[in-house]
Amino acid sequence: MANHKKDTRYIFVTGGVMSGVGKGVTSSSIAAILQARGFSVTSMKIDPYVNVDAGTMNPTEHGEVFVLKDGTECDQDMGNYERFLECQLSQDNYMTTGSVYQEVIEKERKMHYKGKCVEVVPHIPYEIIRRIKKAGQTNKAEIVIIEIGGTVGEYQNILFLEAGRMMKMDMPGQILFVMVSFLPVPDKIGEMKTKPTQYAVRSLNSAGIQPDLIIARSIVPLDNKRKEKIAIFCNIRKKDVISAPDISSIYDVPVNFEKENLSQNILQKLNLKPRKKDFEKWRNLRKRIQNSQKKIKIGVVGKYFATGNFVLSDVYISVIESLKHASYAAGAQLDLYWIDSEIFEKDPKKLADLKQYAGIVVPGGFGSRGVEGIIQAIQFVRENKIPYLGLCYGMQLAVIEFARHVAKLKGAHTTEVNPRTLYPVIDILPEQKTILSQNRYGGTMRLGSYPAKIKKETIAFSAYKDTQISERHRHRYEVNPKFINRLEKAGLVFSATSPDRRLMEIAELPKKTHPFFVASQFHPEFQSNPFNPHPLFLKFIQTSEKNKK
Ligand code: GLN
Repeated sequence: MANHKKDTRYIFVTGGVMSGVGKGVTSSSIAAILQARGFSVTSMKIDPYVNVDAGTMNPTEHGEVFVLKDGTECDQDMGNYERFLECQLSQDNYMTTGSVYQEVIEKERKMHYKGKCVEVVPHIPYEIIRRIKKAGQTNKAEIVIIEIGGTVGEYQNILFLEAGRMMKMDMPGQILFVMVSFLPVPDKIGEMKTKPTQYAVRSLNSAGIQPDLIIARSIVPLDNKRKEKIAIFCNIRKKDVISAPDISSIYDVPVNFEKENLSQNILQKLNLKPRKKDFEKWRNLRKRIQNSQKKIKIGVVGKYFATGNFVLSDVYISVIESLKHASYAAGAQLDLYWIDSEIFEKDPKKLADLKQYAGIVVPGGFGSRGVEGIIQAIQFVRENKIPYLGLCYGMQLAVIEFARHVAKLKGAHTTEVNPRTLYPVIDILPEQKTILSQNRYGGTMRLGSYPAKIKKETIAFSAYKDTQISERHRHRYEVNPKFINRLEKAGLVFSATSPDRRLMEIAELPKKTHPFFVASQFHPEFQSNPFNPHPLFLKFIQTSEKNKK
């Protein structure tokens, strides 16, 4: 086996000009094409903020919080890596400025630096480098892709660039720098502009780094003239400027990169001999997506997330991707709508609009805003037999709706919203009480993968075709054990529980009363990929599709 310490290759991906140009998808796709050439690859995300992890941030600040198997609460890009590479990542694949400083300070307190003056440079970059190498080792990777969050020129990511620069000095042939840049085509001019990219490269140069490859993101492909211009002004060969125009599916990016011979180019630069070329699964996926013509209309009901005039669908990116994976497998194109639950609170007549959807999803969430509207929507889809998939809060609110309107527990609620309800059918997990009373918010929910047992002859079983599952969690509240009997007597089925049967993991309605009403305490959306759609999403989409007719 190769010595992963000595000959591992590292590819740093940085962003130029502005954020949101698809650095995560680019990093995932570079990893995917190298994997398709027979190399073991792992991906890493660096977030330059001071938060120790993404778990304590508001969704409008950060978008989705992705949860890894080991419970790490991290950036949504980690979800893309797992989906593109069909892998499971860990804490070692993620770091923030906060986590790096925290560790250096803890080590200093323990005399790890043996009385030395501990300085921002070099000790912070040293810690960053240690972690990058560790990610390669724990994942037994021959190539590590490291995505540095933010945009070059920002104050926040300088120390991470510094770590990359130092690594390059130490192992020159093993390090590559990729810059994902944006080339605007201003409406009034109609011409693609390269100047912002030139400035971004200068900015990277001032950190002592010359990009080896520039991925040129734009609304259209790059023409020859633009490639030449970037080559001359950015000190790079023309064939190292890769055109990356907007496309309809992110899963087309790996195959598009191959059209530009990117994997061959990277392997050459890293002095690695290509082992094989197997893009079959990516080509098949592309065909499957292109052949998915009939539309399936799905509504996601939740509270409205907006920053200024901008609505953030990023908050539920894994839910959207999972719905897409399942739709492709069912030969359909997802037609997704966001439904603000507060409109039902103002005007219950609007509930009738829900009839136009083939299926309704209520995703995870926190707090009280929009909750009554969501409960009204769940009642409507239950009574009108519209397929329903509830995820985490979507499960808890479905249990509340059922308790109120079927089990006749008037005013039933979660103690998260109403601590004084007569019927706390959803209550805080006992171990969470102490944690919250001590204000220990970061990384303390019930997090990560836990096993669960599925009951036979349920919809859950027909989806998973198995009685043992393992799913990822992120919650503080649970179905209150005191009410389980009453809910079951009224007809609710808990089709999956924790192995000790204490925690309710899936609630559903019997097939004879509703075509598909299934809600999970866990987040299945964290374990779906385009090659293996998650069984619950697949069953939901298949039933919604059938129900349409
Ligand atoms: N707010 C609920 C809880 O903490 C649900 C969390 C979620 O949907 N992720 O249990």
